[in-house]
Amino acid sequence: MGAFDLLQHLRTAGLALTVDGDNLIVTPRERLTDAMRSAIRAHKPGLLDALKANEIRPAAPLDDPGPKDPQQPRLMGLGLDSAKAAQLAAWMASRTAEGDDRRSCFECRHFKAGARRCGNHKAADMPQILGDDLATLPQRCAGFGRLERTS
Ligand code: SF4
Repeated sequence: MGAFDLLQHLRTAGLALTVDGDNLIVTPRERLTDAMRSAIRAHKPGLLDALKANEIRPAAPLDDPGPKDPQQPRLMGLGLDSAKAAQLAAWMASRTAEGDDRRSCFECRHFKAGARRCGNHKAADMPQILGDDLATLPQRCAGFGRLERTS
């Protein structure tokens, strides 16, 4: 995951990022998870560069999930709550039409859903334990491996 995807994810999670010299200020701090902190530390230079250059536009929130998508029950079976499952399923359904080539960990054969663990985290440059926030993040991951079947 690159700085762009991470920044989008953090903003979608309700966090604001600003630059103060060489420091990255993230508010509100109480919303930060351990996985987010690890990802921010790993990508701090890229985040600072992106914010300083003002190259990254604020992320658009994911669309209202609308009617239940066929992927939603599968995602709920993997432990996502209904809101997160609906949100991710809606994004997955809209992605093809929009030409979005990002994927989530729930579509990756390296993802151990029960433990929210990445089995290819070194290649992915991600924390080994992902949590729901990172696991549902649309991203272009260097370690991604397609599932045989995702439906
Ligand atoms: S390799 Fe990438 S997409 Fe696959 S589980 Fe790990 S972080 Fe997620």
